Amino acid sequence: MQVVLAEARGLCAGLQRAIEIIETALRQHGSPVYVRRETLHPAHLVDRLRAKGVRFVDSFAKVPPGSTVIFSPHGVSRTVEQEVEARRLTVVDATCPLISKIHADGQRHVRSGGEVVVIGHADHPETEAILDRLDGHGHLIRTVEDVARLELANPGASAYSVQTTLSIDDLRPVLAALRDRFPGILAPDSEAACHAAQHRQQAVWGLAGMVDLVLVVGAKASPSCRRLIEIAERRGTRTHLLETPLAFDREWLRGVKRVGITAGLSTHDDLVQDLVETLRNLGAVELWTLPEPKEASDMFHDPLPPAISAAMGAC
Ligand code: SF4
Repeated sequence: MQVVLAEARGLCAGLQRAIEIIETALRQHGSPVYVRRETLHPAHLVDRLRAKGVRFVDSFAKVPPGSTVIFSPHGVSRTVEQEVEARRLTVVDATCPLISKIHADGQRHVRSGGEVVVIGHADHPETEAILDRLDGHGHLIRTVEDVARLELANPGASAYSVQTTLSIDDLRPVLAALRDRFPGILAPDSEAACHAAQHRQQAVWGLAGMVDLVLVVGAKASPSCRRLIEIAERRGTRTHLLETPLAFDREWLRGVKRVGITAGLSTHDDLVQDLVETLRNLGAVELWTLPEPKEASDMFHDPLPPAISAAMGAC
């Protein structure tokens, strides 16, 4: 049996970087360190980090004085930033560099007299943090109908940004309607664009075209996993989502010569490797990787937060 791994799979660069920062903060500051639960939610990641001494909290309000708190990769609102400053907690900022850039660009547009249209989901921590930093000059939209209702005071100085976990392919109608209604609206800086979701979706489309069965590893609640399933099924390929390799059912392999494996944006690669091992244990497996573009933004070559870089050098 052949097993084909999508190279563009699993944890995005921002989450990988954040995990590295959290693990280094633990070594540097000792256990526990506190992370807000909402942004690192997959059970396997939470369990893994909890075992190392991370405490997940709903808010930093009740964290004991003198504690170390981590700003998660999706970024935090200014309200949260002010709260931890007021309480003099030690902050380690693991905000993804691409999201820090969205924050900075949005504030620059507001200072220039514009507004920012944020295309995203209302209850997502990334969009909440972005909107909170726009001092009331942000508009959240998600659909073409939202564009029709949108009013901008100064469209020529305004810009839009897109929640990074959404695929630009999915948003084409919304972006077209936005540009049609406000032709002068400024696009995000292409250098800072996140291609993580898009590359994983392109990869699963390619994978589904060459295998008899696609296995997606990740949480059922994860929108990125659901999207991967939809795309593979749209290509007419039988597909299963597994939260862990333990959920694998050997019956799925009946009549299958080639299996494709991918994983959602917040799935650690350990789970994928465990699934490959499960397949190996069922018989001979020829393993190869389907190359795809990976997120290669230069922003991930930026230095880590100073305290963390120092600690990593020492470890
Ligand atoms: S911007 Fe992209 S790389 Fe950064 S956390 Fe979001 S999905 Fe991950």
